[in-house]
Order: sequence, then C-alpha cells, then structure tokens
Amino acid sequence: MTTTLNAPATLPGPRLTPRNSERLAMGLLVIQPSPFCNINCDYCYLPNRTDTRRMDFAVLEKVMEKVWNSGLANAPFSLLWHAGEPLAVPMNWYEKAFEIIARHPKAHHYVQHSVQTNGTLVTDAWCDFFKKHEVEVGISIDGPREIHDHHRKTRKGEGSFDKAMRGLECIKRNEVPFGVVTVISDISVDRPDEIYDFYREHGITGIGFNIEEIEGANKSSSLEQTGSDRIRAFFERFFERNKADGFPLNVREFDIARRNILEPGWSSRPGGDYYNMEADPFGMINVDCFGNFSSFSPELLGQPTEKYGSFNFGSLLAGTLFDATQNASFQHVLADIEAGNKKCAETCQFYQYCGGSSPSNKYYENGTFDSTETRQCISTVQIPMQIVLADLEDGLGITASVPPVPTLEERMRA
Ligand code: SF4
Repeated sequence: MTTTLNAPATLPGPRLTPRNSERLAMGLLVIQPSPFCNINCDYCYLPNRTDTRRMDFAVLEKVMEKVWNSGLANAPFSLLWHAGEPLAVPMNWYEKAFEIIARHPKAHHYVQHSVQTNGTLVTDAWCDFFKKHEVEVGISIDGPREIHDHHRKTRKGEGSFDKAMRGLECIKRNEVPFGVVTVISDISVDRPDEIYDFYREHGITGIGFNIEEIEGANKSSSLEQTGSDRIRAFFERFFERNKADGFPLNVREFDIARRNILEPGWSSRPGGDYYNMEADPFGMINVDCFGNFSSFSPELLGQPTEKYGSFNFGSLLAGTLFDATQNASFQHVLADIEAGNKKCAETCQFYQYCGGSSPSNKYYENGTFDSTETRQCISTVQIPMQIVLADLEDGLGITASVPPVPTLEERMRA
C-alpha cells in the first residue's frame, strides 16, 4: 500500500506504519448509545439487542475528549448514531449528548450527525430535532409490505411495515431529507419491479442496497444458495427501469460505480487506488455504550471471534485510541486485512475502484480477513460497476466491452 502519511512519532510499541496507515484521519465515528432495538429483524447482525443499558454522559465526554485529543479528527467527519435502534433512546438524552459534542470549538464545522433508524419511532418532534441539528437520516425499508414484513418483524412476530411507513411519511411531511437502505434477501431478489414501483409511489429517491449478509449474530443468509446471476438480474432490471424513467432514483451502488468510472481519483490515494476507509486503521472508529472501541468495519464492534480474539481494541475510559496499536488482536486484524488487500490488488481488476471492500464480509464469509472475493463485493461492487460500464459503453457505441468477470460459481466450476 502507498501512503504519504507518517504515523506520529509518539506512537508506542508495535505501531501503525506508513505502509499500513493511509491517512491517519477519521472519516466516520460510530457511537452506540444503547445496544437495544425495539424490533427483531431476523437477519440482524447485532448481538445484545434486548439490552436496554444506555451510555452515561460521563462516558460520552471521555469518548469525545479522546477522539479530539487523538489528532484523528483533523477534517470534517460523520458521527453516526447507530444502535440497536437509536431512536429508542429518548430525545432528551440526545439533547444533552449533542450539547456535550458541541462544546469542542471544532465541532460546529467538523461534526455531521447522522442516524440510521428503522423508522418505527419517528415523530414530528424527532423531525424537528433532525432539522434543528441538520441530522442526516437513513431509514431501513425493504420494499412493499409483504417483502418488508418477511424479515423485519417485532418481537411478537408481527410485521413492522405500518410503523416504519408511518415514520417515513412523517419525515416526508416535515421535509426532512432522507435516504432509504434496503436489504435484498430471498423474498425480494426476484422482484426488482415491485421494489422500483414502491419507491416511485412513495417518493423515495435515495437508495442504498445491502445484500443479506452472513455477519455477526446472523449466521446464515437466505441468499446463501442464491447464484450471483439472480442478484445480477435484480440490479440489471432495476437499472433498466430507472434509466427508462430518466434516472429519477439515486442508487448508491450505481452512483459510486459511475463516479469511479467518470471521475477517476475522486476517492483515491496518491497512487490512484480507491481509498477504502473501512480497511484503513482509524479511518472508522466504532464505540459501544461502555466506551469500548473497534476500528475497521463497524459491524465488528462487540463481536466475539475465535480467530482474532476480541474485536474490542481498547477502552476510551482508561486509554487512548492509539493504545490499540499495542493490542495483539488489532495487529492481527490489521496484518490480515493488509494481506487480503494485497491479494485483491494482485488478482482482481476491480481493486482500483474498491480498495478491498468490506473487511467484515471477508471475515464472516471466508473465515479470515486475509482473503479476497465475497458475495458482498460481487453484488455491490463488481455487478453495479459492470452494469454502469456497459451502459456508458453502449451510449458511446463501443461494442468491444470488457469481458464480464466470471461469477463465483463459474470460478469454482473452472
Ligand atoms: S471486488 Fe472483491 S475481490 Fe475485487 S478488489 Fe474488491 S474486495 Fe477484492
């Protein structure tokens, strides 16, 4: 890997090196105010979702003190409130929490609050709060009722669609900007038209697709036996419908692919490869409600593992973020992410546009960070890139296209 940054001279022990630290800047801070969630989606990766404990303000003060003092908050960053369900924590908790965060002189210019919610607890008062603090809002909705309710259920086993849609309508009525995250699973992978029509009907214009993943507490995926050809067909049809209507929907996966092709360097390191914050030590900092932290993919926070020990790399109550560099698990994870990305760089034509994608998916799908292809990267990096590239080439009248990359199944058969 290439980088232009040196680690601070004061770093102790086994430490970040110029080889494996890209920017020494934190782009995303994830704070878990509570592990609790008020519903019980069957594909959720988070453990302890019935635990109602909440972060103490003294813990939050310490966390922010350590973040500011680390020197990693040296540019604007996103602060994502991610639980459980973040809105299950009362609004007066956030009033106080935002006040604590705003105390730092840099906070006003550096902190962009965002929240990922299941939508079921959204009220007019929450919308006022979002607007007052310019909070970016993402809502998790999987599509029409039958699709959404298949996996996104309450603890009584009832569907959560009505409540989520009530929240969505409330957000629209209050003119709060929002995006939707949709998980594609067995129930939806063959139904791109229904999902497309649903978005159009409900005025949803910003969408990110996640493929149901084997991750954390979710030990299997309903798509496990699904060939990538079905996922490709989903994305192709969705793209086709969107194009026919003049692209009214912004789909994260296609937007990133298009930008990667048309604006080379928009998110690149000096060497030209894609900057992957998720694989960069301290690019993402994830803190649980007790002040324990991890880095790399947020999905690793609090997860037990045999291979790497704990994904908790330290506590911000007693220590600092850089104490992680003396943590054997951190060093093991970092070394394997590096090794996996090196293999990606040597073997995959998408590496320059991907940077090795999500380490957590490599671990949960392949059993190690020191690996390459996953169902997740095929679905959300490779396939969208191929679709957008083919469309651009069509528009230019180029017929000799890049030969399509064989699917996972095809490679295994070869
Ligand atoms: S697309 Fe997958 S295999 Fe290719 S570089 Fe990215 S993570 Fe590695």
